[in-house]
Amino acid sequence: MLINKIYKKILLFLFPKKCIGCGLSDFWICEKCIKNLPKIYSTPEDFIHPIFNYRDKNVKKIIWFLKFNKKHSVLEDLENEIIKEFDFFLEKNKIKKNDFVLIPIPITKRSLNKRGYNQSEFIAKTLNQDLVNSNILYKKTNHISQNKIKNKNERKNNIKNSFEVKNKNKIKNKVLILIDDVTTTGATILEARKILKNAGAKKVYGFTLAH
Ligand SMILES: [Zn+2]
Repeated sequence: MLINKIYKKILLFLFPKKCIGCGLSDFWICEKCIKNLPKIYSTPEDFIHPIFNYRDKNVKKIIWFLKFNKKHSVLEDLENEIIKEFDFFLEKNKIKKNDFVLIPIPITKRSLNKRGYNQSEFIAKTLNQDLVNSNILYKKTNHISQNKIKNKNERKNNIKNSFEVKNKNKIKNKVLILIDDVTTTGATILEARKILKNAGAKKVYGFTLAH
């Protein structure tokens, strides 16, 4: 633990935190710049709730930090905003607080080994650590990464049958909320939703950082 802390301090010394919007020290994104991030209210499907507009360059940077740059502590800066949006989403869909399971969209074992973490799991834990279950949904095939395909139908076919559900007893008649970093066409969440519903889930929603 101590070594971890020292390591973190060294990293911060070498690569100091600076707001991606205005350059303010000690933040990846400061409160003022978070307020300027554009929200998005049109969704690929009505059961998917994204927060920010992925076309914005700072939103893109945040996702990149989270996914590829191991700077997932950017979520600490965004925590209040994400939770506020999540509460709004729960209210809008009349989902009772604490009466749901948060399921991170899984990544393949190969990606997990390479990256060392699943960014969607970090987002889910930011929302409510106690309600996250990462042992339900698994990605079983090493298909082509969705972000390498642009066409909507091709994306749909690419993701087909790539998920597997385990511990079905934990989701029977439950409300599930799938968590992902970005939704583009909605194909990934749609496919996961289908398999989880077939496995006995009552309702399945999607909540993502960006679209
Ligand atoms: Zn700023």
